[in-house]
Amino acid sequence: MKTQLDRARDGEITPQMSEAAKYDDVSPEFIREGIAKGQIVIYGNPQRDARVVGIGKGLRTKINASIGTSPDIIDFDMEVEKAQIAEKTGADTLMELSTGGDMAEVRRLVLDATTLTVGTVPLYEAAIGTINKKGSVVHMEADYLFEIIEKQAAEGIGFMAIHCGINLITLERLKRQGYRFGGLVSRGGSFLTAWMNHNKRENPLYDQIDRLIDIMKKYDVILSLGNGLRAGAVHDSTDRAQIQELIINSEVAEYAQKRGVQIIVEGPGHIPIDEIEANVIIQKRMSNNAPFYMLGPITTDVAPGYDHITSAIGAALSSRYGADFICYVTPPEHLALPKPDDVREGVIAAKIAAHVGDMVKLGDKVKNRDLKMGIARRDLDWNTQYETAITSEKAKQIRDERPPVEDDTCTMCGSVCSLKGVREYYEEDLNGSRKKSYSTAL
Ligand code: SF4
Repeated sequence: MKTQLDRARDGEITPQMSEAAKYDDVSPEFIREGIAKGQIVIYGNPQRDARVVGIGKGLRTKINASIGTSPDIIDFDMEVEKAQIAEKTGADTLMELSTGGDMAEVRRLVLDATTLTVGTVPLYEAAIGTINKKGSVVHMEADYLFEIIEKQAAEGIGFMAIHCGINLITLERLKRQGYRFGGLVSRGGSFLTAWMNHNKRENPLYDQIDRLIDIMKKYDVILSLGNGLRAGAVHDSTDRAQIQELIINSEVAEYAQKRGVQIIVEGPGHIPIDEIEANVIIQKRMSNNAPFYMLGPITTDVAPGYDHITSAIGAALSSRYGADFICYVTPPEHLALPKPDDVREGVIAAKIAAHVGDMVKLGDKVKNRDLKMGIARRDLDWNTQYETAITSEKAKQIRDERPPVEDDTCTMCGSVCSLKGVREYYEEDLNGSRKKSYSTAL
């Protein structure tokens, strides 16, 4: 089957490209050209109708919300609710990452409950299926793993995080540098590391890359090259094992793109803010500006309960330096499985971060929203403030809970509202030709 990448290279503008163009307010040709260069990806799996968004160079930073059961908390209704809240709050994509209960069933329910493009990590279903049947992931058969990958692709999954970059060379780097302060935190990474170390064999997702690419191509699934050796503590950031995995992923990316498969490269988990720019530059340089999917990044390890904030700081900087896709983090990260309210908080934090980064990355196209808000605040135009806010519902709720005595002010300063009080001294500016309004300023 011809993928969106094949078609873009043929010069064709597909309906999906037009849909992505509309979403980002760019031309369909801009999307086509970006896809042809391997710098933008879009949903292309014909097995399911889903909302198409473009991820990549020149586009707004997109947000992914990850949901899913764990072996300890298996509540399908809650996962469906989380999917719906993520979509309603403004996530651009959803990853269904269940590891508990009937994984095929919860995935089916989630796919039915959302219009978003859905991503998965098929290794989870294969590894946990093997553990349930044979007692340990080390007994996983490669054929079974590929069977699960194809089964999920046929269900209409849009992108799959697949850990091709953990190969024997990467593990050797990890061994030589010594074990990490934060251990191995990627579930996919730890499954594969255990399997390879026990079986003394190469990772089948690397060893049989053509088999994997054949499936991705058949269903036009975006191959998201997983970061199985991402740092789980800031003291492990940007180490040799992580960079080795990135090198292998970049090689796989180039090969997959040559064969017509759309790819994304995933990025480092915990990193201090002064290493974010370097990580983006290295990834972009090594993968010919392929879309970069940042997991977090979490910028300090000492704020459990507030990791939506530690990661939003990292996400804003990542986006500012050129990352294209952000995986949200929720407040209970490192502590517990997120609940629906946590999903809402995570999506909002990531959206704010993406906007902050995009203000610099994309300039006035994004920054004009802030200009509109600035003017609306000056003019005490509350309705426009709500309309312009990323967080409209919350903003309105807070003001309504504490109504001011004078309608046009707020209870922060009340009768001594500085904006209102100073107006009479700027009568000429406000009433004359020098007044700036939304229409003249934007
Ligand atoms: S009362 Fe104070 S905080 Fe509220 S709008 Fe006026 S200046 Fe701003």
